[in-house]
Amino acid sequence: MNSIKCVNCGLSNFSSDLECRRCHKLLYRPTDRIASNKPPRRNALISLLIFAALAGGGYYIYLGLAQSVNQVSSTDLKRVAAQPANQPDAGLSRAEADRQKSQRVGNFVGISPGLNAHTNRTQQTQQTIEQLTNSNAR
Ligand SMILES: [Zn+2]
Repeated sequence: MNSIKCVNCGLSNFSSDLECRRCHKLLYRPTDRIASNKPPRRNALISLLIFAALAGGGYYIYLGLAQSVNQVSSTDLKRVAAQPANQPDAGLSRAEADRQKSQRVGNFVGISPGLNAHTNRTQQTQQTIEQLTNSNAR
């Protein structure tokens, strides 16, 4: 049952035989083709696909980065150019504008009533302590 017909002379050989018993031609099995030819070709195709995907992905990431860098620099220039001249931070660099903005926020926090009351109380306490220490020293 497990026999291979020789393609050269037509003799049926045992499936364990490598060559024909009569003409000594190499016997080809259907499994030989699958084992030796197909997988390497598929592996090469898969690695080619993976390489293409990696290269494409890398190029896509590079394009995205370059585009976003261009966008950031151009929008920062546009932002400065689009500001009206009467605005306090017109024509300033982004860092300077941010610094002045945070300073304004800091001023606002400084004049908030809760902080003012706290500062007043601290000053009063310090004045009282000073008065006490002065009167003790006299
Ligand atoms: Zn043969």
